[in-house]
Amino acid sequence: MSLSVDLKDLDVLTSNAKQIQDDVLKEILTLNANTEYLQRFLHGSSYKDFFKKNVPVVSYDDVKPYIERVANGEPSDVISGGPITRFLGSSGTTGGKQKIFPINDKYIETLGYLSTLSSLVTSRHFNDKDAKKGKKMLFLYNRSESTTPSGLLVALASTSFVMSPYFTNRPSKCNSDFTSPDQVILCPDNNQSVYCHLLCGLSQRDEVVGVGSSFAYALVQAINVLQIYWKELSSNIRSGHVSKWITDLNCRNSVSAILGGPNPELADVIEKECSNKSWEGIISRLWPKAKYFECIITGQMAQYIPTLEFYSNKLPIVSTIYGSSESLFGINLDPLSKPQDVSYTFLPNISYFEFLPVDHEGEMASIVDLVDVKLGCYYEPVITNYFGLHRYLIGDILEVTGFYNSTPQFRFVRRKNMVLSVEIEETTEEDILKASARATLVLDQSTNLMLTGFTCYADISTFPGHYVFYWELKAKDVNYVVELDENVLAECCYALEESFDSFYRKLRSKDGLIGALEIRVVQEGTFDSLMEYFISQGGSVGQYKTPMCIKSSEALAVLENKVLARFYTKKYLLLDL
Ligand code: AMP
Repeated sequence: MSLSVDLKDLDVLTSNAKQIQDDVLKEILTLNANTEYLQRFLHGSSYKDFFKKNVPVVSYDDVKPYIERVANGEPSDVISGGPITRFLGSSGTTGGKQKIFPINDKYIETLGYLSTLSSLVTSRHFNDKDAKKGKKMLFLYNRSESTTPSGLLVALASTSFVMSPYFTNRPSKCNSDFTSPDQVILCPDNNQSVYCHLLCGLSQRDEVVGVGSSFAYALVQAINVLQIYWKELSSNIRSGHVSKWITDLNCRNSVSAILGGPNPELADVIEKECSNKSWEGIISRLWPKAKYFECIITGQMAQYIPTLEFYSNKLPIVSTIYGSSESLFGINLDPLSKPQDVSYTFLPNISYFEFLPVDHEGEMASIVDLVDVKLGCYYEPVITNYFGLHRYLIGDILEVTGFYNSTPQFRFVRRKNMVLSVEIEETTEEDILKASARATLVLDQSTNLMLTGFTCYADISTFPGHYVFYWELKAKDVNYVVELDENVLAECCYALEESFDSFYRKLRSKDGLIGALEIRVVQEGTFDSLMEYFISQGGSVGQYKTPMCIKSSEALAVLENKVLARFYTKKYLLLDL
């Protein structure tokens, strides 16, 4: 199926989802029916009914041995009819350990296709003269690739994309669309690249119409870096010289060319804005023509909505794409929808999509096709891609929110396995996000502090076990130090607990099987350290998603080393009658 990038094609695609999905499955099965993996179930057949009846629904551990054999040098056809030319490493921040998935150029091409479609949809909604000729300040990053024992490359999707000819030869080249030259994006040292991204963005401040990254955290991290380095950045702009510690020559030379020489007037403007005691709206003040943020802000990323709103005076946040290393899924066709209301329209030409209802009974029988999902129901996607994954459970829970022509649209609800549990209760990512929004209100009403990062875990090392939330707080006014008021933080603990379900509250108050919830306030910069820890394990800034619940003891140790103070709920919880 060819991937033409034209908004008009969206109607054709979404009106013929059923036929296109059947064609995609036929194409995949014809390509893969004789692989060692599928041969066992299909005996060479490429019939849909046979496929649905015989091919099992699987998770990573089921296919891992096959994937590893190809990684270790056996031919691609152990698992895939088409050539496997590289592997994608998952970010490792959604479900624990890093996994690898076989792909070839088709995946990269599809990622480019979705990004371009999503950009077209966004610019259609911000369609004024400035937006058309302006640039985007995009915080995109590269990370060094590794190889499998057989010499095939392993990299994150974001790295594979920016390193591919598809990106470097993109039609809208000449760096006219981004403020940063490719040399900055491709710089393997992410500290140098974030600094240079900011320098390029500041020196072209009047052209910036959009500010973006793949996932929201990279934007929050860039704002943190700006807060630390603004004096040095403006001094570079004043003198026209890039700081000495930018030692990557490609990066240095390309950024020097963009600076073009001393610019004291611009340096004055930057210093005036950044030395203001409040950083509220700093993004809109430094980049006055910026009309939107563009990044994934749903799911785990939703905790950053208030932070981005604070720094931008509530610029719209366009949540662009839904995808994973296993397959890409779809785009947000309504860029102006609030982050909380975002839905993604699945594109039927990418992979073959099936859906397992949540709370299903008799797994195989209850799985439905893309066009057969029901409005308001919750499902886990099961994907069959071109590269060797067949009926693979993604581990995300989605809700059907509507249809675009005949193609369903989904709200991202949560990761399936990300739950807190001390006893037999299950507190999901969605519950945690809702509770945090309530606790943040308490914080907002009573203090001048904002919550810039959080995560949590279920501490069962004591009896009764209890939930522990790690909170990083920052004063809204940069000149103030963070002062912690015990009563307010105890109220925040209470607000978190109060919004959990009645089962939690019963175990907590009546049965005493869950202890008082605890907030551990950590030093500023702790969540950057947490990101650095995950990056050292194979992640990347570009694809980093702060885990909403922490399971790894090493990651917990990073947080524990930075705890400043501990607070507990003091009041008794009210039970539903
Ligand atoms: P990875 O393969 O490591 O990049 O992680 C893919 C996972 O990131 C998905 O399975 C989702 O859990 C999460 N993810 C990707 N896109 C979105 C999105 N638009 N909204 C919420 N979560 C997302």
